[in-house]
Amino acid sequence: MARYIFITGGVVSSLGKGLMAASLGALLQARGYKVRIRKFDPYLNVDPGTMSPYQHGEVYVTDDGAETDLDLGHYERFTGVSARQADNITSGRVYRDIIAKERRGDYLGATVQVIPHVTDAIKEFALADQDDLDFILCEIGGTVGDIESLPFMEAIRQLRNELEPDQTVSVHVTLVPYVAAAGELKTKPTQHSVRELASLGIKPDVLLCRCEHELPEGERRKIAQFCNVRPESVIPALDAPSIYSVPQQYHQQGLDAEVLRAFGIKDAPQPDLSSWEDVTDRYFNPEGEVTIAVVGKYVGLPDAYKSLNEALVHGGLANRVKVNIKWIDAEIFEKDPAEIAAELEPMHGILVPGGFGERGSEGKIASVSFARERKVPFFGICLGMQMACIEAARASGIQAASSTEFGETREPVVGIITEWMSEDGLQQREAGGDLGGTMRLGAYDATLLEGSKVFDVYGTCAIDERHRHRYEVDIKYKEKLENAGLTFSGMSPDGRLPEIVELNNHPWYIGVQFHPELKSKPFEPHPLFKDFIRAAKDVSRLV
Ligand code: GLN
Repeated sequence: MARYIFITGGVVSSLGKGLMAASLGALLQARGYKVRIRKFDPYLNVDPGTMSPYQHGEVYVTDDGAETDLDLGHYERFTGVSARQADNITSGRVYRDIIAKERRGDYLGATVQVIPHVTDAIKEFALADQDDLDFILCEIGGTVGDIESLPFMEAIRQLRNELEPDQTVSVHVTLVPYVAAAGELKTKPTQHSVRELASLGIKPDVLLCRCEHELPEGERRKIAQFCNVRPESVIPALDAPSIYSVPQQYHQQGLDAEVLRAFGIKDAPQPDLSSWEDVTDRYFNPEGEVTIAVVGKYVGLPDAYKSLNEALVHGGLANRVKVNIKWIDAEIFEKDPAEIAAELEPMHGILVPGGFGERGSEGKIASVSFARERKVPFFGICLGMQMACIEAARASGIQAASSTEFGETREPVVGIITEWMSEDGLQQREAGGDLGGTMRLGAYDATLLEGSKVFDVYGTCAIDERHRHRYEVDIKYKEKLENAGLTFSGMSPDGRLPEIVELNNHPWYIGVQFHPELKSKPFEPHPLFKDFIRAAKDVSRLV
């Protein structure tokens, strides 16, 4: 049976628990263990699919079509293990299932309560799908002391009792703040946080202490003494120069060794960190740099495009260049068209990412025109591909070309899909139905055209990529768009849904209906990002 590592956070939010979980998972994996990482989110949304990216950052989509927390992206990128629906649970989903059961009468007249019904559902989720895993890491969202997370803490407390004593370990992530006026690191918040956790019946085995300065030995001992752990189990976690350095840094501080010791595992193999060493070597020693404009909507919050940001960096790692990203709000191009050339001329590549809604769409279309006319490498992703098709249609004379997402139009080059085939058969929806969980979601196959640019890039005809969208480019416009120079180089296997378009007579112009950024990994950069950055690197060498 798998061993469990429960990861909680204290003092403040945003301590990087997700990255910590991903790094610990990667370290255990580097020692040859099979791991999987899960996220428990205490909020009441059924999933983050309907949340604004401004509030919650990007929605990470899994192969099996779940809309999940962005931390699952970290987990997948760091461990290479494909995240799935069963790896993310929210209070909303637990309650939805329990209430549905109650309405069906499944509880046979019992009073339905947080304990045991909600806690049992959480435990069931934690214990499900163990496959032949060695470790399951469970990260609990939020901060100890939140009302919302209490049922999750209680479920962990029970599990720690019910499983074997050497089968669970609790890792608590805290903050040791530096008070500049006193010139000291303060351990009190950590002491309070551990006390809070202990009052819920959970005694941490390992403390990961985020701090801005070296943790002096004396402070480490003090934390150990007050928090009832060994001094070696107080792991200092200083800010890392890059997220890619985190696994190695935590390893040097002894995190994985302490966790294994807490399980009583004495014969663990040494970790093979060579792939992380290669990644950090590439990251810190680039041989050039490129600047890519990302013309989107949620540019104020980098987390809103987390995977995209990472995938661009991965493309840089593959080409040994540093990738600078210039985040541009598409709306500024609408307010002042002179900004288009001013902003985009210095760029080595232009990317229009996924997005929702009409706001900024004309600015995005103008960026596509610029990239097409000036022959700057262009990458359109999801909404970005749709904008590229509208741009091409307009350039070929269909002035009214638009998307029905933006309102009624005479020329719906992009329109809603109400029916499509998936592995589970025909999927159908109503145009005005629910917003949550009703998009074309998850991995779908596409067939690539032999001899096309993307065929070259992928090196195969058969690919599958993750989707998250409601609208599609309408193949009724295929011929007209082909006359405008576009090639439909990737189609759904039934030939009905355009998956990829590319422009002939252009150094690099590719639009994809899916989200390739979700599958890119630092040690396995996505081929499209790798080749896009290569094309941008070629441009940077010309200037
Ligand atoms: N808004 C568009 C759609 O729903 C694109 C979505 C996206 O870019 N993820 O089809």
